[in-house]
Amino acid sequence: MEELRTRLFDRMRFYRKQCPYCKHYFWTLNKDQESCGDQPCTPYLFIGNPPGKFRPESIRMLGRGS
Ligand SMILES: [Zn+2]
Repeated sequence: MEELRTRLFDRMRFYRKQCPYCKHYFWTLNKDQESCGDQPCTPYLFIGNPPGKFRPESIRMLGRGS
């Protein structure tokens, strides 16, 4: 099914790229994107979020439900 999925993404104009940091393959609509977009490969500012908006500490606090 990998081939079918590849054709589907290709038709949607996604670009298949390999992250230079974690070596994982990923899909992106932005042909200039270089890393997979996941931490720690991509600093927050590279994905368009203001620094401090999605701090790991904040996410952990949300998970705690307090
Ligand atoms: Zn990566």
